[in-house]
Amino acid sequence: MSHSNNSVPPAANFIKNIVEADLAAGKHAARRWAGHPGTAAEHAAAPLDPAKIRTRFPPEPNGYLHFGHAKSILLNFGLAEQFGGRCHLRFDDTNPEKEEQEYVDAIIDAVHWLGCSWEKDGETNLYYASNYFDWMAQFAETLIRNGHAYVDSQSAEEMRANRGTLSEPGKDSPFRSRSTEENLDLFARMKAGEFPDGTHILRARIDMAAPNINLRDPAIYRIRHATHHNTGDKWCIYPMYTFAHPIEDALENITHSICTLEFEDQRPFYDWLLERLAEAGLLQRPLPQQIEFSRLNLTYVVLSKRKLIQLVEEKHVEGWDDPRLPTLVGARRRGYTAAGFRLFAERIGVSKNDSLIDYSELENCMRDTMNESDQRRIAVLDPVKLIITNYPESTSEECFAPNHPLKPELGKRAVPFSRELWIEREDFMEAPSKGYHRLYPGNMARLRYGYVVKCTGCEKDADGRVTAVLCEYLPETKSGTPGADSVKVKGNLHWVSVAHAYTAEVRLYDRLFKAAAPGTGGRDFLEDINPESKIVITAQLEPALKDAQPEERFQFERHGYFVADQVDSKPGAPVFNRAVTLKDSWTPKG
Ligand code: ATP
Ligand code: MG
Repeated sequence: MSHSNNSVPPAANFIKNIVEADLAAGKHAARRWAGHPGTAAEHAAAPLDPAKIRTRFPPEPNGYLHFGHAKSILLNFGLAEQFGGRCHLRFDDTNPEKEEQEYVDAIIDAVHWLGCSWEKDGETNLYYASNYFDWMAQFAETLIRNGHAYVDSQSAEEMRANRGTLSEPGKDSPFRSRSTEENLDLFARMKAGEFPDGTHILRARIDMAAPNINLRDPAIYRIRHATHHNTGDKWCIYPMYTFAHPIEDALENITHSICTLEFEDQRPFYDWLLERLAEAGLLQRPLPQQIEFSRLNLTYVVLSKRKLIQLVEEKHVEGWDDPRLPTLVGARRRGYTAAGFRLFAERIGVSKNDSLIDYSELENCMRDTMNESDQRRIAVLDPVKLIITNYPESTSEECFAPNHPLKPELGKRAVPFSRELWIEREDFMEAPSKGYHRLYPGNMARLRYGYVVKCTGCEKDADGRVTAVLCEYLPETKSGTPGADSVKVKGNLHWVSVAHAYTAEVRLYDRLFKAAAPGTGGRDFLEDINPESKIVITAQLEPALKDAQPEERFQFERHGYFVADQVDSKPGAPVFNRAVTLKDSWTPKG
């Protein structure tokens, strides 16, 4: 049932088409690159830009990255890779209050983990928007000088009231016609810290009657007496995001500035601003082009920062790296693969249509990549003892299990076999149901890589619960010997020798939510948490698994893909997390 890597063709990506058309038209061929972000003058004095295109991933360092960000990262870095370009990692840290080094570090790790690099051909394209504050303030002054910006001193309420609505135009501020000199003076004093927060604001002078509300003299600089993690107390005015972002793109020579659809209404201001700055000679042409695509939405998941914070802070999960969270740190800890995310990004494509992707599509991508990459091991998750009554006591022998059925070159490993084995409880039935081919009194089945055994009965405790299954083995039927096929059986069970087993904690993770759309239908999203999203068991594993290194992942035969937990594993005592089951067997619970 699982797809092979090639069976699902890559989905359409309209942005790729735009890039191809731009390259064919030579749109960006004459751009120059100073080797670092800069103004028109700096780039003009430099050689041609060796990068055919430039894209960027611009996270705000105010939280952990999630699966939606992975789509954006893989899209931006992927385009650059495919078309001989560069992709920049830019921390959009223009907001002084919410940003922290912890997030910067986690974002860097996550982007690396996805296999993306901002270092290429001698360039290190890792940037902080806060390093552009001098340019931004200087550009704001130019706008004032050229009549394109003014200091407004209305209160926040007055400004809101005068903005108008979708059906009504706004009203001009009484401060809109301030002279250039007065505006320059006020802006300089805003910058010098003469005024408290909220008393003045710098606005673009565009059109208070524009049908697009974003063009009704948007705010571009505000007063905020706050310490910034990078610039400290140097500034007490900070640029608004909608002013800062286009400038960041242009300074960095970004050709295609890719963002999610909610910024579509901002595009006219993006273009207006860059046009004003380019005609003033401050920015190199051609200017970056903003292109919007639809964000990733997944069933059984919440991607909203607010909800993720709530899950962590109220301890519904065990931290940002909880394997059930759709964060990239969580995914990594769960054992998800970067290759799986890449395959997923390719399969879902990029479009402008809002769509909801089923979580099982992501799981299928994980399975497909893990099936290729992961070695096989044996684990009994719900153990019951199997006693081979005609096998000698206190002796053992080796059986040989292939490490990867698709890759014989990975060889086989020895697995000890002895008189007492752990098998899955469900592999025995005292009274078998129809079509059951595993162990029941009188039936024969193969112990995978070992012998055919014939079940002779079982032992039970006072409550009638099976405590041991009894059988006899057929010594001439060992796998890999000429007699292996002498007896034909239908059942094929996995097992682990009791005397040699590694007894381990295994966490069976499942979807965090039991509803496809958590928090809809009048429910709080917390009510949709799946109470069985984490089940901790004690399992019996083949001895080789004792040496698993943190983050090493295996297919446990018949069960799924499991990873040695990177946090709780101790040397020689790994703990395992289930990344994904072998098959898509998920059904809503509860
Ligand atoms: P915030 O609400 O704090 O802005 P955010 O999720 O937009 O949260 P950013 O750090 O601004 O976080 O996002 C960085 C980039 O990731 C942006 O370019 C944004 O468009 C993109 N991105 C965020 N969420 C998704 C998503 N669900 N699908 C695709 N791209 C996304
Ligand atoms: Mg954002």
